[in-house]
Amino acid sequence: MRRRRTDDIAELAERLRAGDGRAVARLISMVEDGVREQLSEVADALNPGTGQAEVIGLTGSPGVGKSTLGDALVAAYRQAGRTVGVLAVDPSSPFTGGALLGDRVRMQRHALDQGVYIRSMATRGHLGGLAWATPQAVRVLDAAGCEVILVETVGVGQAEVEVAGLADTTLVVLAPGFGDAVQAAKAGILEVADLFVVNKADKDGAGNVARDLRQMLHLGEARPWSVPVLMTVAERGDGVDELVAQIAAHRAHLESSGELERRRRRRAGREIEAIALADLRVELGELGHGEALDSLAEQVAAGKLGPYAAAEQLLVRVKEENRPAPR
Ligand code: GDP
Repeated sequence: MRRRRTDDIAELAERLRAGDGRAVARLISMVEDGVREQLSEVADALNPGTGQAEVIGLTGSPGVGKSTLGDALVAAYRQAGRTVGVLAVDPSSPFTGGALLGDRVRMQRHALDQGVYIRSMATRGHLGGLAWATPQAVRVLDAAGCEVILVETVGVGQAEVEVAGLADTTLVVLAPGFGDAVQAAKAGILEVADLFVVNKADKDGAGNVARDLRQMLHLGEARPWSVPVLMTVAERGDGVDELVAQIAAHRAHLESSGELERRRRRRAGREIEAIALADLRVELGELGHGEALDSLAEQVAAGKLGPYAAAEQLLVRVKEENRPAPR
C-alpha cells in the first residue's frame, strides 16, 4: 500500500514538471488535506529544483481590490512572457473548504491560459495549518515551473502577517473607505509591507490614504529599502505598469543586498519550526490520551505544580518515548 502511494507521488511530480495542470491541482489538494506522511513525500519529491520562483504576497482587507489587482498583475506578467501561479489562501474559513473562493470568478479570464495556474486553498481548520500548508503549496507551483507566484490572502489579521512572511515581496493593498493608515499600523502591517498600493484611486479619499501612509512611513526608522506608496485603479489597469516596475526594483534590491537569501533562510527556518511544532503537538496529544497530560493537568489545577515545571516534565516524557529502544 505504502509503496503504491510513493509511486503515485513520484509520478504526480513528474507529470507536474511536464506541465500537467491536473497534477498541480492534485498535489495542492494533498497539501490541503495535510496528511503528515503524504506532505513529507510531496515535499521530498518536489524540493529539488525549487526556489526559482519570485513569490509576491498580496494582502489587505476584503474589498480593497486584491483579486482585481492580482488579475491585472497576472495579465501584465503574461504579457511579459512569464508563467504565473496564483494561490488564494483563505485562513479564516475552515468550513467553506474553498467554496467561497470558488466564486471568485474574476480570475477566470486566465483560466484557459496554459501559462497560468490558479488555485484557492483553505486550511480546513488545522491548527497552525497556514504556516506549513502555504509554503508547501507555493513549492508545488514553483516545481510546476511558475516564474512568478502571487499569494493572495483572503481575510484579515494575524494570518495575513503570517502569509506576508512567506513572500519575497509583500504588497499591502488599501483603498479609501477600507481602513486608514492608522489601522494598518495597528494591525502590524506597516512592518511587513515592501510596497503599499492604494487601490481605487478613482475614488475620493485615495490621495489622503496615500499621503497619511507616506507620512507614517517617513516617521518610522530609516530602512535600506524605502517603501513606495503607489496608486492604482485595478479595474482599469491604471498604475499596474508602475507597480510591476516597483516590484522588479524591490527584487533587485533583495538580490543585491543579500536580503533575498536571508529572507529565504528565515522562511525555511519558520517552515521547519512549524512542522516540528505540529509533530510535537501530535505527540503531546497521544501522550495526553496516555494519562500523562491529564495527571500533570490535575496537579497544576490543584496548585501542586507550576505549569512551566509541568511542561518540562511533559517534554522530558516525549523525549524518553522517542529514544530508540536498546537492542
Ligand atoms: P478583494 O476582496 O480585496 O479581492 O477585492 P475585489 O478585487 O474582489 O474587489 C472588490 C470590489 O471593488 C469589486 O466590486 C471590484 O470590482 C471593485 N474594484 C476593484 N478595483 C477597483 C478600482 O480600482 N476602483 C473601483 N472603483 N473599484 C474597484
